[in-house]
Amino acid sequence: MRVAPEVIAGFCRVRSRDLFQPREGDLAALDPVKILWAFAGVESSFGLQSNPRHENGYCYNGRYFDAMLTDKWGCLAHCSYGPWQVMFTNFPPGVSQFRFCRWLTVT
Ligand SMILES: [Zn+2]
Repeated sequence: MRVAPEVIAGFCRVRSRDLFQPREGDLAALDPVKILWAFAGVESSFGLQSNPRHENGYCYNGRYFDAMLTDKWGCLAHCSYGPWQVMFTNFPPGVSQFRFCRWLTVT
C-alpha cells in the first residue's frame, strides 16, 4: 500500500493537534504537525512503504504476544499499519485494521 505524501501532509495538518497533547516540558515546544510528519518519514518513507508489517515481538512466543487478539485476528494482530505503522494493539477498541487505515488516510 502506498499513500501519497500530500495525503499524509493533509492528515498531519488536520489531525495532529487532536493526536498530540504533549505535557509541559516534553515536546510542548515542537509543532505537532512536524512531529507527525517526521514519524511518517521514519516509519514509511512518507507513505511510500505503508504495507502492514509483521512484528515478531507480538507473534507467538514474542514478548508482547496477546492470545485473545491472536484468537480473533491471527497474525493480523501482530502487524503495524499505515504511514505511521501503528501497532494493532494500539488501535482504538473495536476498530479493525481496515477501518483504521481508512481513517488514517481520509482527511
Ligand atoms: Zn504473527
